[in-house]
Amino acid sequence: MTEIRICATLLLVRNGASFDVLVVGSGAGGLAAAVSAERFGARVGLATKTTLQACNSAKAQGGIQAAFGDDDSPEIHAEDVMRSSHETANPRLVEVLTTEAPSAIHWLEEIGVEFTRSNGGYRLARCGGATRQRLLQVGDRTGHAITKSLRETYEAGGGAELPHHILRSISPIESGWAAAFETKEGPATVEAGALVLAAGGRCFAEAETRGELSTNHPNATGEATRIALDAGAEARDLDALQYHPNGGAWPSTMQGYSIPETTRAYGAVLLNADGEEFTDSLGPRDAVSQAIFDEVEAGRGVLTEDGRPAVWLDTTRIKPEDAEISLPYMLRRYRGAGIDPLSEPIYTYPVLHYQNGGLVIDEHAETTLEGVFACGEIAGGTHGRNRMMGNSLLECVVFGQRAGKAAAERARA
Ligand SMILES: Cc1cc2nc3c(=O)[nH]c(=O)nc-3n(C[C@H](O)[C@H](O)[C@H](O)COP(=O)(O)OP(=O)(O)OC[C@H]3O[C@@H](n4cnc5c(N)ncnc54)[C@H](O)[C@@H]3O)c2cc1C
Repeated sequence: MTEIRICATLLLVRNGASFDVLVVGSGAGGLAAAVSAERFGARVGLATKTTLQACNSAKAQGGIQAAFGDDDSPEIHAEDVMRSSHETANPRLVEVLTTEAPSAIHWLEEIGVEFTRSNGGYRLARCGGATRQRLLQVGDRTGHAITKSLRETYEAGGGAELPHHILRSISPIESGWAAAFETKEGPATVEAGALVLAAGGRCFAEAETRGELSTNHPNATGEATRIALDAGAEARDLDALQYHPNGGAWPSTMQGYSIPETTRAYGAVLLNADGEEFTDSLGPRDAVSQAIFDEVEAGRGVLTEDGRPAVWLDTTRIKPEDAEISLPYMLRRYRGAGIDPLSEPIYTYPVLHYQNGGLVIDEHAETTLEGVFACGEIAGGTHGRNRMMGNSLLECVVFGQRAGKAAAERARA
């Protein structure tokens, strides 16, 4: 069925297809926008660089934030975001993000995401920079579960799929926007009443340029941001790239792996060469990464077997029952590589992870170009210059839904 739809779509594209809403990117942001635009009655096309499955979102392990705890509220969530961003985030976008977080979770449940539960409620963890336990999880494959349900929902609808479409430029036309793509069959132009750019960040490409490790999927190369800038869009905080404090450093098969922050939420702590704790292991990401860089710089780090700088993450402090429920994938990966994190500490060092800034958007996810919307990592403002863990998947869903709805309305206008 899918194959038939794809072939039909490619034929249409060669003849200059047109949609009400064209979404670019099939991560959580693009999928949420595409599902939402369809639900608001739009004829939707979903174009993406390679396959629909290829994205950063599916790699997300740790979880997604939403204020469900008895001692929590969207206002406290918003305060945590503002403080972690060092007051650089856009307060209106943050208010939307945190206020709509609980309904975003229920929307995901409606389409089939089953969040891990305990004691009759959601199993909530505290993530770095948070003052409350607020992180919902699906084991430690949260991003995989969310993208799978979103993708299946989109595939069950009437929207078109345009895999292997690499965006090359966008330009305004009388009826909206034209997007030029490179495809396996050659160049193709697709027209739409409104565009949603959800092509993610650029940390894979940036890490390659710097000769560093990255947690990112190879498709995270950032050219869609450049294309929007060339068309006249505004961006903010593009220089603010985030290091994940806990990249895997050894064994070599785990280099660049993002050790879930939930290891620290469930008791793991960072130790230097002398076995001393040198920072608040659940501080904001930038602070924890900087503390590791400083400790190594001061000569109190350790070296991996291949001579890379590192510190210890003492994962032996995690209770086995917590690890079995919330870290099974991470345990499998390490045990498969010959190391049991519940019996010995593991090597870790920060790795390039996330583009904090991006295209300027308003509360409806519209960029400064009329009729061009942006959601997910390509957009800026919601996290300011330092994102909290668990707020990116949330941003994809909240602003993806908003972008899809607003784009469908714009296309109808
Ligand atoms: C290993 C890892 C773990 C993470 N863990 C968490 C977590 O626990 N919680 C959390 O909230 N966040 C987490 N994040 C961050 C979060 O997953 C991402 O920031 C977020 O999912 C980005 O979603 P997106 O839809 O914006 O982009 P992506 O998921 O990266 O999708 C971008 C899409 O655009 C496509 N694309 C790119 N360029 C083009 C182009 N030129 N033309 C057409 N298509 C293009 C790509 O192929 C892809 O399909 C993690 C990230 C990583 C890498």
